[in-house]
Amino acid sequence: MNTNWNYPTSVRVGAGRRNELADVCSALNMKRPLIVTDPGLAKLSMVEDLQSLVNDAGLAVGLFSEIKPNPTGENVEAGVQAYLSGKHDGVIALGGGSGLDAGKAIALMAHQSVSIWDLEDVDDNWLRADADKIPPIIALPTTAGTGSEVGRASVIVDQAAMAKKIIFHPKMVPESVILDAELTVGLPPHLTAATGMDALSHSLEAYCSPQYHPMAEGIALEGMRLVKNWLPKAVRDGGDIEARQHMLVASTMGATAFQRGLGGMHALAHPLGALYDAHHGTLNAVLMPYVLRANADAIGNIGVRLARYLDLPNYSLDGLIDWVLQLRKDLDIPHTLAEIGINDERADDIGVMAHQDPSAGTNPIALQPGQYSDILSRAINGNL
Ligand SMILES: [Zn+2]
Repeated sequence: MNTNWNYPTSVRVGAGRRNELADVCSALNMKRPLIVTDPGLAKLSMVEDLQSLVNDAGLAVGLFSEIKPNPTGENVEAGVQAYLSGKHDGVIALGGGSGLDAGKAIALMAHQSVSIWDLEDVDDNWLRADADKIPPIIALPTTAGTGSEVGRASVIVDQAAMAKKIIFHPKMVPESVILDAELTVGLPPHLTAATGMDALSHSLEAYCSPQYHPMAEGIALEGMRLVKNWLPKAVRDGGDIEARQHMLVASTMGATAFQRGLGGMHALAHPLGALYDAHHGTLNAVLMPYVLRANADAIGNIGVRLARYLDLPNYSLDGLIDWVLQLRKDLDIPHTLAEIGINDERADDIGVMAHQDPSAGTNPIALQPGQYSDILSRAINGNL
């Protein structure tokens, strides 16, 4: 079932629709697109096939894949050099979070005179960029979780400052997105589960945020229903195209919904991801019930509404938490952070870092550093 959407950007939805890539390039006046992806994907025939597809249509396509799993400022600079020396006129960003984030940042920086760090997502910094010089971006996600294909920002590592920075510009939203489930079938079950739980955490945290944004609430609800119905199937049978396609849509919806903000799961997952080499989606999945419980005083009614919409057996916050616990079990996701090698040696520091994280600003309760440390200890020890 193929369909085209124009919200939140132009989205072509359907298995096999990567075959329309050359048409999409032409519609955006790209004659010399640069494919940006990660080195792992660059080795797969998928990338070679996409290159020939675009070449055969008479376009001169280039490839840049020298990026780290967490792309750095140096990676972006090298990508800009490749973009300029190849005289490219647009970017095709392909991949999971890293390929998409790097591609978007390379397009942003291609013709700017400011440094990438001048465009960190603080105040109105983005006004420093010359918006007219940002070339068009096409995004093809190969995982269903980050939703970076509809995001207005990239996470880039500033190695000098040893920090992950959010680089933001409204024109970083790709002008065209292709959600082709066939690009995600190679993802192994544990990564399908972890990325899918990240998509769920985006919709769930956006739905619990206190911000006024009813549109985002609506999107979050249906995003969660898609995860409930299709993630277990996509994990059980990676070749289930229907399940994969719904999960890609759920991922795009999660990232669209979190314009309403995130919360305590991401506030804790960000410092934990930086300090321990743990998967972002797994961290959110493990933390999920503990953070829901810590927010109980503020989300009782939200839990009832959500449980009703998801058609859970028990219309309450406890019913919602029970569902999360069962889903994690079905997906072989651990119940404690201890099982993924995290101990409470740095619980106090991490509590402070979580409190300062931008995601903490839209948690339903303004949790203090000590409360974040407490959630962390509970998640380490399995004390729900
Ligand atoms: Zn996330």
